[in-house]
Amino acid sequence: MRRPPPETIVTGGYKCNRVRSATVPEWKRARRIENAPTQPHNKEMRKRTKLIAFLILGIIIAMTAATNIPAKPTGDYTTSPQYRDGHFRNDAPKPKGADPDAGTMWDFFFNKPKNTVPSAPVPVKMITRADLDAAPDRSVYRLGHSTLLMKLQGSWWLTDPVFSERASPFSFAGPKRFHAPPISLSELPQIRGVILSHDHYDHLDAATIKQLAQKTDLFLTPLGVGERLQRWGVPATKIQQFDWWQGTTVGGVKFTATPAQHFSGRGLRDGNKTLWSSWVIQDGDKKIFFSGDSGYFKGFAEIGKRFGPFDVTFMETGAYNTAWPYVHMQPEETVQAHIDLQGGWMVPIHNGTFDLAMHAWYEPFDRVIALGADRGVKIATPMMGESIDLNAPAAGTRWWLGMENP
Ligand SMILES: [Zn+2]
Ligand SMILES: [Zn+2]
Repeated sequence: MRRPPPETIVTGGYKCNRVRSATVPEWKRARRIENAPTQPHNKEMRKRTKLIAFLILGIIIAMTAATNIPAKPTGDYTTSPQYRDGHFRNDAPKPKGADPDAGTMWDFFFNKPKNTVPSAPVPVKMITRADLDAAPDRSVYRLGHSTLLMKLQGSWWLTDPVFSERASPFSFAGPKRFHAPPISLSELPQIRGVILSHDHYDHLDAATIKQLAQKTDLFLTPLGVGERLQRWGVPATKIQQFDWWQGTTVGGVKFTATPAQHFSGRGLRDGNKTLWSSWVIQDGDKKIFFSGDSGYFKGFAEIGKRFGPFDVTFMETGAYNTAWPYVHMQPEETVQAHIDLQGGWMVPIHNGTFDLAMHAWYEPFDRVIALGADRGVKIATPMMGESIDLNAPAAGTRWWLGMENP
């Protein structure tokens, strides 16, 4: 197994998801008990513990939902073709059986395979302010999950910024990062704009937005998401909200919100109250596609027809499962979507930072690399903190191969 050159990797002593016994949550302890030699009464105890844990989880989720009701939409969304009866909708209706059943949910919470989380921190190439100042235009840094830092026309742009330790409503529970952010929020330069794809915890992070509000000029969001930001203290004057196919030009860069097939919400009572989208970003002759989250749908071909070809696509590749095929793509579908878009280079994102599914954490990389080779798609896999040059993208290292897998 080859490791990336050590001088480029700083993990900052960041602690990974190792579970220490003193802080093991109840439901994880239940799993440990499961591994112990079994006796009939142990089994019964285990069942009861799981049930109690499940109930507690349900109560916590319900309580969180109650405190996460978004401010009432004030925009005139009734003119949006996506808006009906108070909710946004996808173009294609959800087929029957496209939601995870109780058994899948149970496995998701209590029977996760061990390798969904790396056994050591994911390597990070740390970024300094000096690095950013010296970076040429059209540099795109992968900061983690779906967070990208882009220098376009001399200004800095961020997609779906998440810098918190967990993608969760809680500070003490929920999916925890596999790595530290390559740069801190305080060290970031002035941000010309934040581009948001939708209101889910792994894309829209309250703590990050609150800290960015000061040093960010603009927030570009799908319809309704801006009202969430206002509730968190972002001035309305800094927010621009868009329906699909709408956009704006800022500092010579054109941004268009484009369709996606997904959903939104932070709790039990705000489902689909805000719109979700992908984004087309045009900087002169360079065209970039940012997928946000999406299932595979006809929209990719339509976006390709209207805006393609794209130089680089940043495509959701992770958190997939056959139990929820409508809202996330299998790697085969991601590569097909990239082809539909008429993409050149593809960068798989939505992976390597949070455990949000049942697949091995490194599986999205392995599968998409093999598929790219089969279908003649150029795949770039920058390390966290590494940049891509939009003028001359390169494959980069297969950095995850150097890690010990569980
Ligand atoms: Zn999502
Ligand atoms: Zn997501």
